[in-house]
Amino acid sequence: MSRLSKFIDYLKDEGIDKFLVTNITNVRYLSGFTGSTACLVVDDSEATLVTDFRYKEQAEAEVWRGTKVKVDNRETLTAALDVLGDFDGKLGFEALSLAYSSYTTLSERLKAKLVPTSGAVERLRRTKDSNEVATIARAVKIADEVFSEILEEIKPGLTEVDIAARIDFLLRKKSQNIPAFETIVASGPHSSLPHAQPTSRIISEGDMVKMDFGAIWDGYRSDITRTVFVGKASDKFREIYDIVLHANEEAISGIRAGLKASEADRLARALIESRGYGENFGHSLGHGVGLEVHEAPRLSSKNDSPLEAGNVVTVEPGIYIPGWGGVRIEDMVLVDSDGCTVLTKSSKDLIEVGT
Ligand code: ZN
Ligand code: ZN
Repeated sequence: MSRLSKFIDYLKDEGIDKFLVTNITNVRYLSGFTGSTACLVVDDSEATLVTDFRYKEQAEAEVWRGTKVKVDNRETLTAALDVLGDFDGKLGFEALSLAYSSYTTLSERLKAKLVPTSGAVERLRRTKDSNEVATIARAVKIADEVFSEILEEIKPGLTEVDIAARIDFLLRKKSQNIPAFETIVASGPHSSLPHAQPTSRIISEGDMVKMDFGAIWDGYRSDITRTVFVGKASDKFREIYDIVLHANEEAISGIRAGLKASEADRLARALIESRGYGENFGHSLGHGVGLEVHEAPRLSSKNDSPLEAGNVVTVEPGIYIPGWGGVRIEDMVLVDSDGCTVLTKSSKDLIEVGT
């Protein structure tokens, strides 16, 4: 069954007659169109992709069966109004992806009853099919290759920006695309910021270096974090690294379809708490990855939904100590009915570099 058919079935179950998709990632997911300007009007049997002249040829070549292309050089939302005509039933829209000004236009010019929704398409995107898994695995492989190459290059005297720029260069060369998100490289005490921006800080012996980056392959993303040590690892680094690694492994050994996302988070968190660093692990365990680097399902203490076979999620516990630094180890895993498959192949052994 096609993604579009599944989505139409969902709309019928929800009592929604037509649906306006404005989130461009969701447009791509349902129609196959990879351009950056379009919206999709879904009715009870097919969809119409509305885009402009720049994307005419591309859209006609890319869209899947069941989707028509309408090219219109006016603003896509204005053109979508024409597609909807005098429709006066229930029109679902994406509350998180429609500007207030656009909403106002729709409500003034349409007879339809506007129904706000959230996560309507994202709930389908949670479960990856085998093609998606293969594409994601390719994006992960590129990130693994970049990690093994950057390890050879890290040495005292380089700045965080030097390393980030080199990672970005390698990602770009190998994926023929931009990085999946802004690369994080944080060293020494600066690494206690979970999402630090790379700076001109010069790396020296005795620093940890935390690197978080990912590749894009055919639209799908990867996301990996490794933390290495420059020189001979200190006892404190060994202690913290060992706890984070155990938390990562504990979660991975428990993740399977049916486990609540919050329970996965708890597996790692309980281990870190038991070693006295609960307060230093302030973010959730992980998140889904696919066409976006952060998508459903979230592996957080607040998400009690069960994981499902076909989810691709990160497992990324960390310990961050202000004034000292931080360690995070992030893998991507595919959830199976009886466990999970770790997609990330980079070593998780404690690595000492630049010596
Ligand atoms: Zn990451
Ligand atoms: Zn992540």
